[in-house]
Amino acid sequence: MKDISFESQVLHTLFEKEDAYHSLAMPVYNTAAYEFDSAEAMEAAFCGQTAEHAYSRITNPTVEYFEKRVRVVTGALSVTALNSGMAAISNALIVVAYQGANIITSTHLFGNTYSFIKNTLGAFGVEVRFCDLTNPEDVRTKVDKNTCAIFLEVITNPQLEVADLKKLSDIGKENGIPLIADTTVVPFNIFKAKDFGIDIEIVSSTKYISGGATSLGGLILDYGTFDWGQSPKLKDMVAQFGKSAFTTKLRKEIHRNLGAYMIPQVAYMQTLGLETLEVRYERQAATCLKLAQKLQSLKEIEAVNYTGLEDNPYYELSKAQFGPYPGAMFTFDLASKNDCFRFMNKLGLIRRATNLFDNKTLAIHPASTIYGTFTEEQRQSMDVSPKTIRLSVGLESAEDLFDDIRQALD
Ligand SMILES: *Cc1c(COP(=O)(O)O)cnc(C)c1O
Repeated sequence: MKDISFESQVLHTLFEKEDAYHSLAMPVYNTAAYEFDSAEAMEAAFCGQTAEHAYSRITNPTVEYFEKRVRVVTGALSVTALNSGMAAISNALIVVAYQGANIITSTHLFGNTYSFIKNTLGAFGVEVRFCDLTNPEDVRTKVDKNTCAIFLEVITNPQLEVADLKKLSDIGKENGIPLIADTTVVPFNIFKAKDFGIDIEIVSSTKYISGGATSLGGLILDYGTFDWGQSPKLKDMVAQFGKSAFTTKLRKEIHRNLGAYMIPQVAYMQTLGLETLEVRYERQAATCLKLAQKLQSLKEIEAVNYTGLEDNPYYELSKAQFGPYPGAMFTFDLASKNDCFRFMNKLGLIRRATNLFDNKTLAIHPASTIYGTFTEEQRQSMDVSPKTIRLSVGLESAEDLFDDIRQALD
């Protein structure tokens, strides 16, 4: 089934093994361990000669099925499912990072990602070099032979900044550095990360994929595009594992040692979410664009930020990379923090909550919540303004959402 559409293929990917009862849905294998017929079979499985399941911290049939569905629809070489987006980010970066290495990224990062790279990896001797990723020259001057990754979010949250991925990928290729990207805000049914030179894609499947905020999850997709012979840490593995060196390091060492594999119930729920991703995304992103356009006409709103709006500075680049519907989240500015709080408190239909791409529309004031414990100086360096509200658009009608926003502004 090569040339069928995303929405068809995602529904019709078969299990690894035929189910004993011909269950049409993937059974949920709630088990920690798996039994073997003989000591020899056990030895073969534990030593990697067979691919039998041994223990659910390492692999599980339900999780493997979810990973396979994502692999088939994205064309990735391998997919690893973990128990949150942060687990995916930390596992992936620990595969490539080492003492004395540096990571090139921007200060425009999800709060915990910023803290993970700066504080957690920093304590183990990994340096972070913050750049303006929209300025390739700045990146070029900061990379060196110890740069182990260029890491970015493809549309940053909440700034909604868009870097030119092909230019960053070219810098990576010239210098032997993998491009690792968090693509959570634009799901892989519309954004083909591999086509833009992303070597390792990371997704918080808590968001679009979970299917209405049912569960936490994270995915690491390895496209098999990077020559790991150029990585000081992984080069010794290339002779044996070739382009699978990253995946092998991840699956045989890092993810087992960190113990954050996805659990089977979550894989079941997220497989269901994946089945409806295309229709939910289409609806939510179209409502998002419509709302962003309508909000531009309200005098109480100082600015609306969505890269799908024609007057947005990233409009052309965003359209070239993500198409006409770049995510179902946008931000807008009111006159002051006080006005933002008054607005938040008057909302009726729209819920006050964090998270993105729930079926329900959610509003948050990022500066006082996600970035609330950061210093004012840090918030300024990250361009997180106290005047900004972030809206994650759900499945309600655009008219009902607009009415709620308008009454909350009065
Ligand atoms: C939510 C989010 C994460 C973290 O994902 P969790 O599943 O909450 O751990 C990382 N990056 C981005 C862009 C996110 O929106």
